[in-house]
Amino acid sequence: MIVTIDGPAGVGKSTVAKMLAARLDAVFLDTGATYRAVTLAAMNAGVDLTDIQAVLSLMTRTKFEFVHADNALKVTIDGVDATADIRRVDVTENVKHIASQGALRAELVKLQQAFAEQFEKIVTEGRDQGTVVFPNAKFKFFLTADAEERARRRHEELKAGGTEIAFDVLVEQIVQRDASDENRKVGPLKRADDAVAIDTTHLDAEGVVEEMIKVIEAAHG
Ligand code: C5P
Repeated sequence: MIVTIDGPAGVGKSTVAKMLAARLDAVFLDTGATYRAVTLAAMNAGVDLTDIQAVLSLMTRTKFEFVHADNALKVTIDGVDATADIRRVDVTENVKHIASQGALRAELVKLQQAFAEQFEKIVTEGRDQGTVVFPNAKFKFFLTADAEERARRRHEELKAGGTEIAFDVLVEQIVQRDASDENRKVGPLKRADDAVAIDTTHLDAEGVVEEMIKVIEAAHG
């Protein structure tokens, strides 16, 4: 059983996907982590992020591992734990170079599909999960929330981790990431026709998960 959760940056997909996976006894896949891992590996290797051939070649000689443990996704690059580093602000800013290239996306889509095949039940989240990667998923959700509310959540999350970034800067980053995610030619952020849309602006994570469980239970009669 595959459940897809797509939506824009900062909408709370990871939190909700993890909680839903725990409720369904499923494995959780954060596909943003796959884009971030390739971006970080290229940055570490000094590879020009706009040189598709160079990034493709780096991808073939690098070992990326995405391991599901304790309801979280651990990421390693050539055996080195990169779980925290892939969340760095400079990585976030550079991901667009990888995410906008069809040839690179094709490789990551294969990786995501191969990951899913290992498990009986999976909750996967990203931008193109219901549209491109798992078009036949049993349940599809598309989350939205106002940009300001998403920036506020991101602000709190960063603050909890000890990083202070001005709220205005975060709003601007979110608006820019929305534009680059929505306007790219391949795998753009888009609701699948058969995805259930949930506006999370006034809902907390538990509230969103409850909505999803209702949809899933209704289908199971
Ligand atoms: O979800 P997260 O913020 O970690 O994703 C990082 C970036 O990776 C996004 O801004 C988006 O450009 C890209 N991404 C993507 N397709 C996905 C998941 C993430 O293009 N399925």
